[in-house]
Amino acid sequence: MNRPTSEHITRKDDATARAEPWVSWNGNIVHSYDTVVSPSTEEELAEAVRSARRVRIYGNKQSSSDIAAGTETLIDSSRYNRILSFDEEAGRVTVQSGVTLKDLMQEIEARGWTFPCLPDIDTVRIGGALATGTHGTAGDAHPLAEYMVAARLIKADGSIEEIDESSDLMPALRASLGTLGVLSTVTFDLHPLYYMRVEEQAIPDEEWLAHYRQWLEDYEFVRIIWLPHTGYGWVVLGERIDADTPVEERAAPRYVRHRREVSKFLYKRTLRFPRFTRFANRLIRTLFFAHRIVEKGTLYGATVTKSRGSTLELAEWTVAMDRFEELFAKLRNALESNDNDAYAHVPMDIRFLKGDDTWLSTAYGRDTVTVGCVTRNPEHADEYAAFDLVERIFLEHEGRPHWAKRFRAKAPELAPLYPRWDDFVALRRRMDPEGKFLNPYLAEIFE
Ligand SMILES: Cc1cc2nc3c(=O)[nH]c(=O)nc-3n(C[C@H](O)[C@H](O)[C@H](O)COP(=O)(O)OP(=O)(O)OC[C@H]3O[C@@H](n4cnc5c(N)ncnc54)[C@H](O)[C@@H]3O)c2cc1C
Repeated sequence: MNRPTSEHITRKDDATARAEPWVSWNGNIVHSYDTVVSPSTEEELAEAVRSARRVRIYGNKQSSSDIAAGTETLIDSSRYNRILSFDEEAGRVTVQSGVTLKDLMQEIEARGWTFPCLPDIDTVRIGGALATGTHGTAGDAHPLAEYMVAARLIKADGSIEEIDESSDLMPALRASLGTLGVLSTVTFDLHPLYYMRVEEQAIPDEEWLAHYRQWLEDYEFVRIIWLPHTGYGWVVLGERIDADTPVEERAAPRYVRHRREVSKFLYKRTLRFPRFTRFANRLIRTLFFAHRIVEKGTLYGATVTKSRGSTLELAEWTVAMDRFEELFAKLRNALESNDNDAYAHVPMDIRFLKGDDTWLSTAYGRDTVTVGCVTRNPEHADEYAAFDLVERIFLEHEGRPHWAKRFRAKAPELAPLYPRWDDFVALRRRMDPEGKFLNPYLAEIFE
């Protein structure tokens, strides 16, 4: 059992551990633990890994799948959050893995650099984002991990391996859920900062379905926030422009910022009356998705959510681009049918990724479309029938789940979806034969 040896280690006696469990951001995952370590140096981080019997490191606890705790030792990465070096000429930045995306973006944008693809939130920590394949959207977009060109990995025995793009480990490491080791420092290759004219408006389903492929070629940023039961998608298109190109901006009406609270209020009623979702979605579309917005900004400034009024529970599935339309037709029919209680809340976020060669990437070997599914009643997520229906339809289309989000599939369903699955499992066993980095959830998938 670990003993507290310095101020960054807190050992909880049983009573305290029961009183103060580890709780994920929306309260849906709760674990007790014995020791939590909060390192600020690589030596402390390596020692925490070396001395633990079983250990998980966590970022901002924003994953919906049970991947960030559940071991007797936990590592809190929030103090391991410094930007270590910045090569402004080459656009290369090296960070400790606990830095938040927000801190990183503010620093790199101020120096004229960016990532070409960013997720919807900036509160995630880099280690958490990389481990789970966190991504944004565009015709040629990749998950953030694809922009990682070097890393220092703390292995199960506490030793450190330096990995760069020439390393055989890189395609496995880029989406590895921390099961190969703990990412210590990470180096990214950045892209020069650019500006966009971003336009958002509701477009009928048949129209966006007819045009999204062309948009992926013409625009820098393409996102379709599908509004089930309304016949519309809220389409966000970002066109690259010169920094000094004037844009006639058009703001959303002020009341639109109350969308999340109003949605939460309406969706409370769907707990007793799932069919009420149809009415709620149509009202939400009329109130909050009927205007047009035009904005000029950077990818970070114009497309990443900076504040979030309420929590939610999330699932996200992905499908090969060439099967998306067939899948979407089935999904829409099933979700909008009255024959089941799978009424889905707004929004269902549709995004796009270019194929890559990261073994466990949702976009491995194929251009990919990702489709989100959320409930604004996270405490009742187990009863939300849309999650199960979405999972079933995606699995029928060889869909792969987002590792950080909610899904029920285990190794038997997942293995056939990833051509390099067996290689990953063998590598994981070789690198961590004792299963130090596995909690019960991950053991069911990877052991
Ligand atoms: C409101 C909301 C919006 C979201 N939007 C998007 C989106 O737009 N795109 C998208 O792809 N995802 C999105 N996500 C999912 C989110 O990006 C992931 O859940 C991400 O992992 C959360 O980061 P975190 O810092 O909270 O990590 P945590 O949830 O704390 O950890 C995630 C995983 O990373 C591991 N980990 C953490 N640090 C390290 C490290 N240093 N080394 C190795 N492993 C490590 C943890 O053990 C765990 O397995 C969203 C989630 C929420 C709640």
